Amino acid sequence: MTTAPVDVESARRDYAALVDRGLSLDITRGKPSPRQLDLADGLLALPGDVRKAEDGTDVRNYGGLKGLPELRRIFAGPLQVPAEQLLAAGNSSLELMHDSIVQAFLSKLPGAERRWADEPSVKFLCPVPGYDRHFALAERFGIELIQVPLTETGPDMDVVERLVAEDAAVKGIWCVPKYSNPTGVTYSDDTVRRLATMTTAAPDFRIFWDNAYAVHHLTEDEARLADLLALATEAGNADRVFVFGSTSKVTYAGGGVGFFGASEANLAWWTGLIGKRTIGPDKVNQLRHALFLRDEDGVREHMRKHAELIGPKFAAVDEILTKELGESGLASWTKPTGGYFISLTVPSGTAKEVVRLAKEAGIALTPAGATHPYGDDPDDAVIRIAPTYPELAEVEEAIRGLAVCVRLAAATKK
Ligand code: PMP
Repeated sequence: MTTAPVDVESARRDYAALVDRGLSLDITRGKPSPRQLDLADGLLALPGDVRKAEDGTDVRNYGGLKGLPELRRIFAGPLQVPAEQLLAAGNSSLELMHDSIVQAFLSKLPGAERRWADEPSVKFLCPVPGYDRHFALAERFGIELIQVPLTETGPDMDVVERLVAEDAAVKGIWCVPKYSNPTGVTYSDDTVRRLATMTTAAPDFRIFWDNAYAVHHLTEDEARLADLLALATEAGNADRVFVFGSTSKVTYAGGGVGFFGASEANLAWWTGLIGKRTIGPDKVNQLRHALFLRDEDGVREHMRKHAELIGPKFAAVDEILTKELGESGLASWTKPTGGYFISLTVPSGTAKEVVRLAKEAGIALTPAGATHPYGDDPDDAVIRIAPTYPELAEVEEAIRGLAVCVRLAAATKK
């Protein structure tokens, strides 16, 4: 990035004026706005008088560990997992990722020589910038986290292929393959193919394929993702894929349904273990979701309404950053066509200071470093912007203020 010098005095004046406004704005977390949640309020009247799933199961009773077939069918296409290999579970995909890791530590995965608990060390590759909760979850179990650059086409596959081939302690990789959190990139066909076919030293290597934004398009130009599970299966590596997804940002965040998809062997492993944890999921909620969303087209139609609400917020971020910082060369940012986030890159060594200045001015941002394992962004340059929750006017105000902070941090950089 070539940067024009910033006039310190004018940057200080602008910042003082910003602080004087006494703002209280929050663009920290990727939450749906209340108006987005309203879109799914039809759920509250469902399942109405219906008590039975299509196969005659009384949804009010125990059982059905794999979840309702009609809901699994709706999400089989979007999540690229055959319905019979896709489980509909509880209210969150993060808990399914958590449980997969816990179970891998406690019980041998298909193909494993031993439990992860009995390994001298367990390492995961973390494409960065990435999702802080993935990193925190793995860190909590003592997994060593290794950064891999995330490019425009997905993780740098030369690095990934080398690391998985040379070190049998590398047991997993975190991937948000479509409209990634936070850059918005979608993995290219070549990246997906290489992930599916690469040689791994660990026989129990797993790709944690968190397709959280599978249907979250912002434009008509929908990103297309290659089918990892199909490609891995074709290459004889079916067991390396764990697919996750949820309706958290389709219907209700926290009141939706999480999904887990994998090979037959992985599913047998999973259901055998998870059957000790629960007698079955909340099928009433699953039925109301199936009735509300109807089919894949129903999901697409519903997601268009989300795009109408949040598309203008993403556009506003881009417009304001272009106007305020475009010519300065002080920052670059992603222009996602889906998902929930924008990634802003500021001059090296200033991201923490930008976040601090913004906080003092009443604008809450995700902590700098959160996009990297251990909170350590070696360049101190990446800031995640989450524009969905606040009203449009608040997003605009927050981004104008953020630009002021970027200029001051750059001007006063030691
Ligand atoms: N994965 C990613 C990439 C996310 O961004 C989020 C939410 N911010 C989640 C998972 C959480 O999903 P859930 O609500 O299904 O646990």
